[in-house]
Amino acid sequence: MTPEATALLLQGGGELGLDLSSHVESFTRLLKLLQQGAAQTNLTALRDERDIVLKHFVDSLTCLRGSWLGGDGRVLDLGTGAGFPALPLAIVQPELRFTPVDATAKKIAFVTRTAAALELSNVTPLTARAETLGRDPAHREGYGRVVTRAVASLPALAELALPLLREGGVLVAQKGPISPEELEAGRLAAAEVGGEVRAVDAFALPVLGEARTLVVVEKTGPTPERYPRREGVPARKPLFWRAT
Ligand code: SAH
Repeated sequence: MTPEATALLLQGGGELGLDLSSHVESFTRLLKLLQQGAAQTNLTALRDERDIVLKHFVDSLTCLRGSWLGGDGRVLDLGTGAGFPALPLAIVQPELRFTPVDATAKKIAFVTRTAAALELSNVTPLTARAETLGRDPAHREGYGRVVTRAVASLPALAELALPLLREGGVLVAQKGPISPEELEAGRLAAAEVGGEVRAVDAFALPVLGEARTLVVVEKTGPTPERYPRREGVPARKPLFWRAT
């Protein structure tokens, strides 16, 4: 990693209250593997070091705002893609155990290779659709935390994530700016699937200042058996929301 990119990583972490100096080597390896992966496949649109450091690494770590990720230590990352936010979180939170999930086997193959290269023993990737896991007794109500970044509308995320959480568990959804309409649909959808919106944390991405929102949904009761609906339906026909 260039000295400039390292400085941005440390500055971005610092703005989040994190001292990343002992993790620079891991992030440097992650950066290299991502750039190699991006050259081979269209794994991620970001190739520039500055963009990867700020928009993937630091952005993923904003999940740690508000200390929502404690709990029993099992965190599922729904729609992890090339490993975000799971991999940066796993680097800085070795005491938490992460299950990055994605429907695309190629992406999970990359995450698996990368976790091994970084010697992240707290990462267990899984190729699956969230709808399938949500109906699988081995995973339904199996997690204390679900994180997710840039995957679907809030009502769709509520339907996909809440079945996976046990009562008292928490979904932390990383979004850009969120409209009042999407938020309202998310609140109604959360109530329908056994949850309640606990926090809406709007903030600026460190260094770049772009608008971001963490929406935190707590599972407060059981999810009705009929959720999640079958594969593809939660995102195509989100509860209480006309996708545009
Ligand atoms: N979280 C990553 C990737 C976002 S792209 C990041 O922020 O960089 C969205 C990813 O979610 C894609 O890789 C897609 O395959 C996955 N995805 C979408 N719906 C899904 C579902 N229902 N189950 C599992 N993965 C899903």
